[in-house]
Amino acid sequence: MLNLKEREEVIKYSKKLNTTNLSPLRSGNISVRGIQDDVEGFFITPSGKKYETLKPEDIVFLSINEEKNFLSWFNSGKNPSSEWRFHQDIYKNKWQAKAIVHAHSPNATAVSTHRKTIPPFHYMIALAGGEDIKCSDYATFGTHELSANIVKALENRKACLMSNHGQVAFGENLSKAFELAQEVENICQQYIIALKMGEPKILSFKEMQKILEKVKNYKSG
Ligand SMILES: [Zn+2]
Repeated sequence: MLNLKEREEVIKYSKKLNTTNLSPLRSGNISVRGIQDDVEGFFITPSGKKYETLKPEDIVFLSINEEKNFLSWFNSGKNPSSEWRFHQDIYKNKWQAKAIVHAHSPNATAVSTHRKTIPPFHYMIALAGGEDIKCSDYATFGTHELSANIVKALENRKACLMSNHGQVAFGENLSKAFELAQEVENICQQYIIALKMGEPKILSFKEMQKILEKVKNYKSG
């Protein structure tokens, strides 16, 4: 089978969605960038299948260019996740994105219903790439509007919340994207607890710039 490695990786992390703190049942989806038959695209979880039953042939390859998508998924006989569009638009707009994890993880989803950007109440916010974690404006799932809102919230970031929906994170591989999504979930849990005691103290912009510099050096070192 073509691109067996990528397909198996998507399956491995889809199952992890269910067994970690990220997404119970069938919620959430995963993709990894790749090339098939000289077409640049991505491998994504299919629609409506339980992750524990996934086989390599169930993973759908979609082109980065929309018009080729129809051909490729009719050929494969499978439907991609109904949320494929924002995966495509993130890959189109972010060359750094090699893999994407989208989850309806409980704490991130809870914060997203307040449509709130998470301020730097903890320095680990920097792992998402900036001095806060944005929450994209609300739009119906699967729409171009939602994609556009997510891409905007991901400006200079690797993760964001999605209003009344959940979170999305990308990385240079699936392992890193998955770990970042788990970090975002932890941060949201801590934020909810902190808010129970009133508004937490926020780190200054200057302090966050210092931390962002340290995080950058740590990663490249
Ligand atoms: Zn979703």
